[in-house]
Amino acid sequence: MTGATDTARILDGRALAREVRERVRATAEARRADGAPVRLDAVIVEGDPASGIYARNQRRTCEEVGIEYRLHALPSHAGFEDIAGRILLLNADPKVRAVMLHLPLPDGLETERIQSLIAVEKDVEGVNPANIGNVVYGRRSLVPCTALAVMELIEAARVELRGATCAVVGASNIVGKPIAVLLMRADATVISMNRWTRDLPEFTRRADVIVAAAGVPGLITAGMVRPGAVVIDVGVNRVTNPDGSERTVGDVDFDAVRRVAGAISPVPGGVGPMTVAMLLRNTVAAQA
Ligand code: NAD
Repeated sequence: MTGATDTARILDGRALAREVRERVRATAEARRADGAPVRLDAVIVEGDPASGIYARNQRRTCEEVGIEYRLHALPSHAGFEDIAGRILLLNADPKVRAVMLHLPLPDGLETERIQSLIAVEKDVEGVNPANIGNVVYGRRSLVPCTALAVMELIEAARVELRGATCAVVGASNIVGKPIAVLLMRADATVISMNRWTRDLPEFTRRADVIVAAAGVPGLITAGMVRPGAVVIDVGVNRVTNPDGSERTVGDVDFDAVRRVAGAISPVPGGVGPMTVAMLLRNTVAAQA
């Protein structure tokens, strides 16, 4: 493409996720043939419809690649002791090798305290703080799936991260911070930003790679992006159209930014499907 029609390469998360799933399927088949099928045990507290739908989709996604799925459903009135007790049982069961906890938990329950009970080596979502610590230290560990998805998309854009400047917008414990750490581990120069950052564009304009993970629709505009930069959009935001219908958008003004960027991940169809694929990959890795 030339001249005014130049647009960024689209980083197709769905296609990349398909490739990952194929590899997972091959491994899961081999393990099954060896008499050690791969399995994911998920704990859910009933009562949140969205989380129930997510769990149903997750079962299908797992079964499609040959991963057994066991859902441990607790009633909506379950308390800390009930959830903690179930997780400790799963931790102690040698047949259970991969554990995850569906969110949200009912109001008043301390999510992080419960997540920190998941055995480090079974924590396929990488939500136990010990696993985040292992990421910092560069030890072999289970890394949060969204951060892994972002790294895979950056790799697909064929960026040399060593020496590159990377701007990470958003610094939550489970998304922005692990991404920043993985980029640091790849010898990038990392600028971590949050809602208090005074001049976002000043930093994003310097970046070879921008990762948008703030949860603010339209936050990253074309004027904030250096021509040719790689833009990875983690945001998932529901917005209302003029006709009242709803759609999902990321944090990046996609139509404008794709005319400036060198490569860009769309929403939907970018980080989202890759995150699901990374959970499958972590599930296989947990039982290696
Ligand atoms: P969060 O609310 O926990 O954290 C948001 C972070 O962004 C904070 O560090 C905050 O300071 C920062 N921030 C907020 N407004 C900002 C602004 N105007 N400028 C700069 N920084 C700002 O959210 P989260 O859990 O980290 O998720 C971030 C986004 O990623 C959300 O849209 C979420 O839905 C999405 N997400 C997507 C996936 C996926 O698989 N695609 C997974 C997890 C989260």
